[in-house]
Amino acid sequence: MPPYIDRMNRPKPAGKRVRVILLTQVIGPLDYRLPDWMDAQVGSVVVVPLGPRKMVGVIWDEGVFGDEAVEEHRLRNLLEVVDVPPIKTGLRRLVDWVADYYLSNHAAVLRMVLSSSAALSAGGTVTEYRPSGVEPARLTPQRAAALDALVDAQGLVRELADQAGVSEAVIRGLVKAGALEPVTVSIDAPFVAPDPDHDHPELSDLQEAAAKVMRDAVKAGQFEPIVLDGVTGSGKTETYFEAVAEALKNGKQVLVLLPEIALTQPFLQRFEARFGVEPATWHSGMKQSQRRCVWRGVAEGRVQVVAGARSALFLPFANPGLIVVDEAHEISFKQEDGVRYHARDVAVMRGKFEGFPVVLASATPALESRHMVSIGRYKGLEIPSRFGAAKMPRIAAIDLTQDQPERGHWIAPTLLKALEERLERGEQSLLFLNRRGYAPLTLCRNCGHRFECPNCTAWMVEHRLVRRLACHHCGHVMPPPDACPECCAEDSLVPCGPGVERICDEVNRLLPEARTIVATSDTLWSPEKAAEFVALVENKAVDIIIGTQLVTKGYHFPELTLVGVIDADLGLEGGDLRAAERTFQQIAQAAGRAGRAEKPGEVYIQTRNPSHPVIAALVDGDRDGFYDAETEQRRRAGAPPFGRFAAIIISSEDEREAIEAARAVGGSAPEVEGMHVYGPAPAPLAMLRGRHRQRLLVHAQRSVELQDIMRAWLGGLEFPRGVRIGVDVDPYSFL
Ligand code: ADP
Ligand code: ZN
Repeated sequence: MPPYIDRMNRPKPAGKRVRVILLTQVIGPLDYRLPDWMDAQVGSVVVVPLGPRKMVGVIWDEGVFGDEAVEEHRLRNLLEVVDVPPIKTGLRRLVDWVADYYLSNHAAVLRMVLSSSAALSAGGTVTEYRPSGVEPARLTPQRAAALDALVDAQGLVRELADQAGVSEAVIRGLVKAGALEPVTVSIDAPFVAPDPDHDHPELSDLQEAAAKVMRDAVKAGQFEPIVLDGVTGSGKTETYFEAVAEALKNGKQVLVLLPEIALTQPFLQRFEARFGVEPATWHSGMKQSQRRCVWRGVAEGRVQVVAGARSALFLPFANPGLIVVDEAHEISFKQEDGVRYHARDVAVMRGKFEGFPVVLASATPALESRHMVSIGRYKGLEIPSRFGAAKMPRIAAIDLTQDQPERGHWIAPTLLKALEERLERGEQSLLFLNRRGYAPLTLCRNCGHRFECPNCTAWMVEHRLVRRLACHHCGHVMPPPDACPECCAEDSLVPCGPGVERICDEVNRLLPEARTIVATSDTLWSPEKAAEFVALVENKAVDIIIGTQLVTKGYHFPELTLVGVIDADLGLEGGDLRAAERTFQQIAQAAGRAGRAEKPGEVYIQTRNPSHPVIAALVDGDRDGFYDAETEQRRRAGAPPFGRFAAIIISSEDEREAIEAARAVGGSAPEVEGMHVYGPAPAPLAMLRGRHRQRLLVHAQRSVELQDIMRAWLGGLEFPRGVRIGVDVDPYSFL
C-alpha cells in the first residue's frame, strides 16, 4: 500500500518508535511511541503504560535486542519523562555487558542502576522566601521590624517567622504583599567539594613513583587498569589519594569501593584529613532520603567522590574519572545472589566503557589480577616496603603438635607468653580466628545428637554473648536448650571447637587483667559500631582484640605489635579452588596489622602442618614463590584464569523436583569441544533456606563461547514453577 493512502486513511500519530527496558524481569523490552512534543532521548528514564498500570523504564539503543517489534497501530505513547539525567552511553554498555556476561537480564541489572526509587520521584524542591526589595503598600511597625530582621534571610515560612520573632501569618502577609519573593530550592542537600590541596602528605620516593603513574593515567583520561600492589602499611591509601586529587583537579568524579561497611568509618576520617571534607557514601544501610540525595548528586555531577560498597558501582556518574577498588582481592566484592557479578571485574569494564583508569589496590592481589599484570593487560605498580620507620613483622609458625595448648584450650604456650609480654609493655595484640560465635557445633555427650538448622545443611552455632544458637546461612535462631531434645539428658550439651567468643573466654581466664574485645560482623554491624571500636582501640582502652577476617584489613593501630593466628589450617580444609590463595591472603592481611608504626611487630601462626606450602611461604616471606606455584597449579588444571568455570544451581522446596530438574539440565548439556559438564550432584550445602539444592559445574577453555552456549542450552528448557535455576559465572563459592 503506497504511503499516501495510509496517510489518507488513518492519520499517523506524530512521534517515533523507541525501545524501552522495563524494570520487571517478567517482560522483555517493549516498543513505545515517543510523541513529538515529548523531550526524551536514548537513556532517558521514562514512565510507560503497561496494561492498566504505569511502569518505569529506560529508552534503550536500537540494535541491542532482536526485532520483535510491536505493530505500528498497537504502539502506545510514553506517559512521561522522569526528571533525572539520561543514563549515559558508557553505563548503558556496561548494563549490556553485565546482563550478557553473567547470563542475567537487562531488567535486573538496570534495577541496580536505578537503585533509588526516591531519586526518581518528583518533588525534590521546596519553596523558600526572601526579601524582594519591594516595600509593602501597608507597612505596619510589626512588618517593618520583621523585614529589618530578615535582610539577607531566606527560608521556609516557618523558619522566617522564627527568625523574625513574628507569627507565620505576618510572614504570609508579607509574601502576599510582594515584600517577600518565592525561591525554588532543591531539598537535595548540597555537597561540599573535597579540596585536592587541603593537606598534602610528603610522599616517600616509592610512593611518589606509583602516584605519578596514577596521576598521569587520570590526566590522560583513558582506560587503564592498574594493580597497586603495596605491602601492608606501605601507604597505599595515601598514594592513591594522589590520583583522587588529580581527578578532582580535572573536574572528574571518583568512586572508591570498599569491601566492608565496617571499613567505611576509618576511611572517611582519612579522607577528611586529606581533602577537608568527608566523601559521600553509598551502602545498603542508608535511608531513602540519603540514597536519593547521593544518587541525584552523582547523576547531576554535584557529588565529586563516593566511597561505597559494591552496589555503588552502578551509580549514574555524570563525569567519572577514576575508580579505586580498595582491598581488591576481597571476595566480598563477589555478589552471591540476584545478579551474581564480581565488582572488581565490573569496575574494570566500567573504566573500559567510559574511558578512565581503574586502580585495584591490595597487599595481596588476586591471582587473576597478578596474571593480568604478567601478560601485560594490566599495569602493575609496586610499593615493596612499609612507610617510614615501620618494618615488616617477623612471622613464625607454632607447631600445635609440639607446642600444645592445655586440654580444652586453643592458645599455645608460646603465643600465651607473647601475649603476656605485650600486656606488660602496654602494647596491643590481635588474635585472629575466622569463626563467629562461641562454638561452631553443639552436641549431646549422652546420645551424640547434633544441633542442626531445620532449613539448611548446617550446624547451629552457639552465640553466648546474645544467648542463642544461630544458623549462619539463613539466620534461624533458637534459645540454648537446657536438655537434649533427643534423649532428654540434662546438662549433657557440650560446645565443640572454638569461635572468637570462646577464645575471648580463654584469654579472660588466662590473663584476667587484660581488657578484651570481640570484633566480628556481629559486634561491628554498622559504621557507628565500627567507629566506636576504632576509638576504643586507638585510646588504648583495649589490650587484646579477638576478631574474624573483618578486623584483619584496612585498620591501622600503631600500638598493635602482636598478631596470633589461632587456627591457620581452618581455611585449608575443603579443598575449594581458592582455599590456599584465600588462606594466604587472610593470614598475610592479619599479619599486616602488626608493627605498623615504630614498634616492631611479631606474628605467630598456629598450625598442625607447618610445612604446608601456604604456611611455609608466609614464614619465609616468599609471596612471589607462593603465587608462582599456585599459578602453575591452576594452569595445569585449566582453572581460572587459564580456563573458565560456570556453576548452575537448581533448587526447589521439593527434593524430587530439584533432582529431576537437575537431571534435565544435565541431560540436555550440549557436546562442545573444550567444554565439560560435571554433575548434577547434591550441593555441599544440600539444603538452604528450606530449598533442596543441586549443582552442575561447567568447565571450559577460554576459547569457548561459554555465555552463548549456556544461554541457548538453558533457554531451551522449561521447569515447574517451584524450580529456580541460578547461573554463577566465574563462581567463588562452590557450596
Ligand atoms: P596500607 O593501606 O598500604 O596498609 P596505609 O595507607 O594504611 O597502608 O598507611 C599506613 C600508615 O602510614 C597510615 O597511618 C598512613 O597514614 C601512614 N602514611 C603512609 N604514607 C604516608 C605519607 N606519605 N606521609 C605520612 N603518613 C603516611
Ligand atoms: Zn539455616
